[in-house]
Order: sequence, then structure tokens, then C-alpha cells
Amino acid sequence: MTQSSSADRSNSALDSSLAAAEDRYKADNPKSAARAQEAARAMPGGNTRTVTHYTPYPLTIASGEGATITDIDGHRYTDFLGEYTAGLYGHSDPRLVRAVTGAVEAGVGLGGPNRYDAELAQLICARFPSVDLLRFCNSGTEANLFALSAARAFTGRGKVMAFSGGYHGGVFYFGETGSPINAPFPFVMASYNDIDGTVALIEDHADDLAAIIVEPMMGSAGAIPVDPDFLEALRDRAAAHGTILIFDEVMTSRLGPGGLQEKLGVTPDMTTFGKYLGGGMTFGAFGGRRDVMSMFDPYAANAISHPGTFNNNVLSMAAGLVGLRDIFTPDAAEALNARGDRFREQIGAVIARHDAPMQVTGMGSILGLHFQRAPIHRPQDTWPADRKIAAHREGLRKLLHLDLLASGLFMARRGFISLSLPLGQPDFDDFAAALDEFLTVRGELLDEG
Ligand code: PLP
Repeated sequence: MTQSSSADRSNSALDSSLAAAEDRYKADNPKSAARAQEAARAMPGGNTRTVTHYTPYPLTIASGEGATITDIDGHRYTDFLGEYTAGLYGHSDPRLVRAVTGAVEAGVGLGGPNRYDAELAQLICARFPSVDLLRFCNSGTEANLFALSAARAFTGRGKVMAFSGGYHGGVFYFGETGSPINAPFPFVMASYNDIDGTVALIEDHADDLAAIIVEPMMGSAGAIPVDPDFLEALRDRAAAHGTILIFDEVMTSRLGPGGLQEKLGVTPDMTTFGKYLGGGMTFGAFGGRRDVMSMFDPYAANAISHPGTFNNNVLSMAAGLVGLRDIFTPDAAEALNARGDRFREQIGAVIARHDAPMQVTGMGSILGLHFQRAPIHRPQDTWPADRKIAAHREGLRKLLHLDLLASGLFMARRGFISLSLPLGQPDFDDFAAALDEFLTVRGELLDEG
């Protein structure tokens, strides 16, 4: 038997299992189906946030409580997605509900500084080593736009180094297919964790390189940890050339009390934030070296303007403050990430017991499930050149996702998991049991032939 005929056989078995799983999903979720159709009348494909889309149609979520969510067909799921890291606090923590309702009752859109913004800024400055001064904005995407633009203004240079597979927001998508709507900066693309290649590129472009933007663990690309020597090399070369090193900690700031910069002991010039730091509300922030951030000081001559109607909106400021000050304390951060590390070991043990061609990546409270044995050092390691293998893995991601939903477990189709504070060991045990069942029932489909 040739390799391809064996692969074909395994793909057709996968196709029929997938078709059955989709039929089951459709039978279970008629209200979400109807809502998806209705939504398409006003939004392209019924969608306004690409990452929430999956086939045949996504579940419409009606409510959330603690570590669970409920869809409009009435199914309850344990939430392992955690709103792509923004849902760190789980759903409707009473302290956050009080913070938000208190802020609303005292009036929103106040048109000035408020009672919360400075204290939240001070807390963030105190927690994250690189941040002398900070400004708020409305999303991680915006934070990166402002940080990169600030670096260009500060250095008087144009180019920006980014890494293949990286994600820094809707206009900074460097995945396998790229994006025609990326912000029109002159990007120099390098390869994550490739010290020699990246250093050579930095040297080539040094005179015109304003900034290097890097996730200290790649998040959306599949929870790919960094080689600390790689970050050190970036730090060293950026300092040598006066290039602004920006850590995008929109996702990773939750991985330690002071983010990954503190945990790994590498301090960038600037850092961008988002996600959970707004206590579940809309949030973005960028901060860093005093000399760079002081360009925005409105008392200064020639200050850079950054007005932003909702920069310090009271909902995000009030919820973010209570969240970081009272809930996600340094001890809570350590404990959550320790739970994540144990959960990763638990999942790894299930995979090992089945000797399955899978692996789990990530750090602390962020995990990535992958259908491959080959080590993953950079996103390109997860992009098989063989299209059949790529399609097979895509099919397996789909099947796992649908099977987990049928078991009452919610995660991203691409295998992304981020833990929230209310998740407990019984939830982790449920997930491990569901994965064990998947590998028992579906195990032979995993073979790539
Ligand atoms: N940077 C990273 C590393 C992210 O993961 C994301 C979002 O997933 C962003 C930036 C963009 O943040 P937002 O969705 O708030 O614009």
C-alpha cells in the first residue's frame, strides 16, 4: 500500500466521522442555527468578530456564570476558552459586578479624568517592570498601533520588525495566509526563536529599524513558548541600535504577577496590554520608558496628541482596578499559573498514555493543543507543506472541538485554551476524561498515514 492511499483512507474515515458529528451538532443546536441565519442579514456571514466563527455555525451564547456559559438552546458548557484570555475572572464575579454597576450608577461619559484611571495606571506601572508611564486605549490592536507609532516618532525611523505567525490585532495579522488589511507599516518579517537569522536581519536594517514587536510567548499562533535566549538577543541588539523593543503582553501579562517580562527577566522598552486588565470590559494600554512615553505629556512642547473618547471610560477603569487590585493579586497570578502547569501535565499524560500524535504547548494558564508529534519552536512548524496533512489536522481540530462541545466543554476550535480563576480540579478532570474518550473512540483517525 502506498503512503497516499493510506492517508486517503484515513481522511475519508475522518470525513464520515466529521459529517456525523456535524449532524449531531445541528440536531442539538437549532436555535443557534436560526440565529446564525438571521445574523447574516445584517453582518457578513453573520459575523462581527472573525475569531468567534466556526462551521457549521457558532453557538450563540446567552449567559455566563463563574466558569460556565449557557447557549440559547439551553446547553451549559464549562468555559475553557476564557474569552481568549480576556475572561480571566470568569463570568460575573460579584466584585466586578459591583464595580461596574457602581460606575454606571455614578454616570458614564463624564468627559474628564475620573476616580479610577490613575490608580489602575499606578498598579500596572508597579507590577510590570518596563512600565514607567502608561496610557490607556480601547483594545490590544489599538495599543499596538500606538506603541509602534510612538516608536517611529521617537526614533525618527520607519521600519518595524515582526515575526511570522505573530498576531498583534486585526491589522497586525502575520499568520500563514497574511492579511490584505494589515496596517501599512514597512514590516521586516523574521522567524520566531531563530536567534541567528533574526540578529542578521536586525543588523541589515538597523539604521531604519524603529521597533521590534514580539509576543514573549506566541498566543494565537498556538501557545508557543519563547526561548529566553532569543528574547535576550532581541534585547541586546535593540539596545545596541536604539531600536525600541516592544513586548506585546496583551495575552501573556497574565502569566506571572509582572507578566512574562518579569518571569523571564527581560525588560523591553515598551509593553502593550489588553484583555483581562479591563476586568472583562473593553481594554487596551501601552506603556514603557519615561522618555518615550513623555512624548504624550500634554504639558510638553510639541506633545503628541492621543485623545481617544473612551480611553479612560469608567467601566473599564473601575472593573480593571478592582480586578487587578483585589482579585488578580500577585499570589492569585502565581496560583492560577501553577494550576495551568498542572493541567498541562495532566493533559500531556493522557496524550502519552494513548501514544497519540498530539502535544500540548503553552505556559501557565494558556494552553495549545496540536495534532502533531514534531516539536513546535515557531508557528511555521505547525504549517505542513503537504496540503493533505494540513487538511487532515484541520479535520481533527474540528472533530475534537465538536466532540468536546458534545461533552459540555467549550474551547477554541484551533485548540486554544485559557484558564479562568473559577475553574477547579473537577473541571480539569472532566476535560482530561473527555480527551481520553476522544483518543479512545477516535484514536485511529489521528494517524496521518
Ligand atoms: N496582541 C495579542 C498578542 C493578542 O492576542 C491580541 C488579541 O487576541 C491582540 C493583540 C489584539 O487585541 P484586541 O483583540 O483587544 O484588539
